Amino acid sequence: MPLLDQTVIERTPGTVTRLAAIESELLRPAGLVAGHSVDGWVVTGWLHEGAHLRLNVVRADQTLAVLAGPRDDNDGAFLRTPHWNISYRDGNYDASVAQLLVAIGLALDGPVIALGLDAAALKQRWFSRPDKGDVLEVSPGKKLYVRVTDHCDEYCLFCNATEGNANIVESKAAVAAILRGLPTGSLSQVIFSGGEPTLVKSLPEMVGLAYDRGARQIIIQTNGVAFAQPGALQAYLPYQDRLGIGFSLHATEAQLSAEMLDHQDLTRFPAKIVAIDESVRLGFKVKITCVVMRPNLAQVPQFAQWVWDRWGTGVHRLQFSYAMPRGNAWLNQHLLLRFSECVVPFGEAYAIGRRTGMRVETSQSCCVPPCVMPEFVDHYDIYGDFLGKTSDPERVKPAEVCGTCKWDRICAGVWQRYIDVYGTSELKAVQLPEPPTDIEDFAEPEVLDLSAC
Ligand code: SF4
Repeated sequence: MPLLDQTVIERTPGTVTRLAAIESELLRPAGLVAGHSVDGWVVTGWLHEGAHLRLNVVRADQTLAVLAGPRDDNDGAFLRTPHWNISYRDGNYDASVAQLLVAIGLALDGPVIALGLDAAALKQRWFSRPDKGDVLEVSPGKKLYVRVTDHCDEYCLFCNATEGNANIVESKAAVAAILRGLPTGSLSQVIFSGGEPTLVKSLPEMVGLAYDRGARQIIIQTNGVAFAQPGALQAYLPYQDRLGIGFSLHATEAQLSAEMLDHQDLTRFPAKIVAIDESVRLGFKVKITCVVMRPNLAQVPQFAQWVWDRWGTGVHRLQFSYAMPRGNAWLNQHLLLRFSECVVPFGEAYAIGRRTGMRVETSQSCCVPPCVMPEFVDHYDIYGDFLGKTSDPERVKPAEVCGTCKWDRICAGVWQRYIDVYGTSELKAVQLPEPPTDIEDFAEPEVLDLSAC
């Protein structure tokens, strides 16, 4: 099984791993990756924003977002090079900004000329994302998310899938084809997700396919409501030794639970509880994920205690997730939390975990950065190796803080959007040694070329 170079599985020959290619083929040769200087400004990171590339730069107290897209004479731009439209935003104009834009334009022209591309070819190479149906992304930690539907019946106020989901595979035949081609044993987890996967009637058969292909761990991520139906869980009993069920549950009672949704359906909460009760009774490996926003922040410690009192060791792990600033959460910014607001309630919940023996944790990538709560790093579920990287292009590690941090490898980075709103004052480079971890990630290449199987 040949390995390629990024977090995308290519199912069709010719699809291009754009994000990796932009960094390796364009930005690095142009000297425009994080930490590099250009004309007195320091590059702090970049994002791929649709038809543009957004470079974030800083100088003293000034920040600026420089936008570069393939040259298009019908599109507005501050300046055009033979290959690029260059603009800026999020900063004030002065003569030095004009100078910077020219310098970046020229720097970006270099690799394009070296590769012999014109504007149309560079657009095709770096800015036409592959079709959703052409790729599967393998997430850090060698986790494969198979999103069997984009639909959901929960409508959470924090849902980030509304901003775009990778790996939507909506037919049983397509899932079967993927699983046939995958070396499932070399992945750590095959995760059936969505949308809400239990809305798909053939989900038990899909889980069975993954099981038969030797998937080491299979997870169903669900809001749990459908599993309250009598007999619904029985269909999964044959796969129980390698199957875990991850329930989303965000409060100890119906009213608060409904406040995390964009409707006030009080019947969903009791259904979830029935489903978790039954899953525990049947001996499934149960994980509960509680996404935290302003409405349920104060209840975090009480929630941890309540989970322990109700299910005890029947819950394999309880995870608190920081609601990442994308999708619905970004549309509901009044409910988003500052990292520092989470420290006390999360700390109290972790302390309950230490006292009871229940595993209380936070995910490595949906978390308050570890430098904000370094004394609780043992409560981070660390699975990906991010040395010198972030878990996705929406995040950054600002060089002025993270450049000297010893926990770079275990940190997924911070959302640029968070930094745009709140700045970096809560982050502090960690000088403690990296904690002991059991990271199982692709050491180097991260893409399986199925066309070559
Ligand atoms: S200082 Fe930066 S790299 Fe270190 S843990 Fe904080 S955000 Fe992550």
